[in-house]
Amino acid sequence: MTTYQLEVIENTSKKEKPVKDQVPFGTTFTDHMYILEYETEKGWYDPKIVPYGPISLDPAAMIFHYGQTVFEGMKAYRTEDGRILLFRPEKNFERLNLSSERLSIPPIDEQQALEHLTQLIKLEKEWVPKTPGTSLYIRPYIISTDANLAVGPSQTYKYMVILSPVGSYFPGGLQPVVIHVEDKFTRAVKGGTGMAKTAGNYSSGYQAQANAKKEGNADVLWLDGVEKKYIEEVGSMNIFFKINGEVVTPELNGSILKGITRMSIIELLGTWGINVTEKRISIDELYEAYEAGQVEEVFGTGTAAVISPVGELNWKGQKMIINNHEIGELSQKLYDTITGIQTGKVEDTLGWTV
Ligand code: PMP
Repeated sequence: MTTYQLEVIENTSKKEKPVKDQVPFGTTFTDHMYILEYETEKGWYDPKIVPYGPISLDPAAMIFHYGQTVFEGMKAYRTEDGRILLFRPEKNFERLNLSSERLSIPPIDEQQALEHLTQLIKLEKEWVPKTPGTSLYIRPYIISTDANLAVGPSQTYKYMVILSPVGSYFPGGLQPVVIHVEDKFTRAVKGGTGMAKTAGNYSSGYQAQANAKKEGNADVLWLDGVEKKYIEEVGSMNIFFKINGEVVTPELNGSILKGITRMSIIELLGTWGINVTEKRISIDELYEAYEAGQVEEVFGTGTAAVISPVGELNWKGQKMIINNHEIGELSQKLYDTITGIQTGKVEDTLGWTV
């Protein structure tokens, strides 16, 4: 295998950085981006850091037609003493390759991806915001670029990384949300692409999310695609419940994304002596537990929010009010510990930060 040196082309006309750190998610991008090319005969080649800007693609590029694409989402956090930390980035590259396998995209070298990401972030270190709760969002992604309308895997790809400073998800502290239990539309089915981070999984949720929002909900709770019975995910987050003292989360079944926050919560709770049961949880079972007064906490987990408490679930005209719309003790403790590890305030005994 040929190894290619990373080439860096510096941007000579740098942008003004945002004056305030509370930038809305995904709206501002840094001065540079990373690009790596793929051709079947060569493999991945020509890694480059270049000035951020538009790229040129043939209108027939396969990404526009058949959605052969994958992505990741992670964050760089600034510590009080000015260091920059990544949270378990190797898990994101591992998951990127799992997603790629599902979409028939060739795998990238995970180690090299992390090394080159580190170099990109070092170059952009001034873009990592300093206000507590803010971070630099990292979006690695792969697109298929063959100019060819024949249905089938592309022979050429681009792997790219762009960076975007983001404000805190909850600027005023954790805020429980109202969620619609979706019993019409489906996010993913077993054997489908639910376990992959790929574009179509997200756009296919917009219609359900728009309907839910019209009725005052922040997002939807996705049920399984066959029986509309078992709980899968909440919006683009994994979901946890504390029922009668037991912490439970839906088991990974092929249609649920293997969240890195989910994985970290299970491991962290283990170190606190709290077992998490991964199992199928039906919406009926949840409602029964609710009626019996046993549902203590419900929360979504993901890179964006870390923990997003659920204060209310609306299911077929029935309301489940969780913990009186208040933040649960466990939700708050998990949020404080994980964000503390991410920002260097809590000792990283599990070796999660880079
Ligand atoms: N489920 C879906 C569908 C997601 O898009 C995400 C965000 N990546 C998650 C769960 C949470 O994953 P993570 O904890 O790795 O951010």
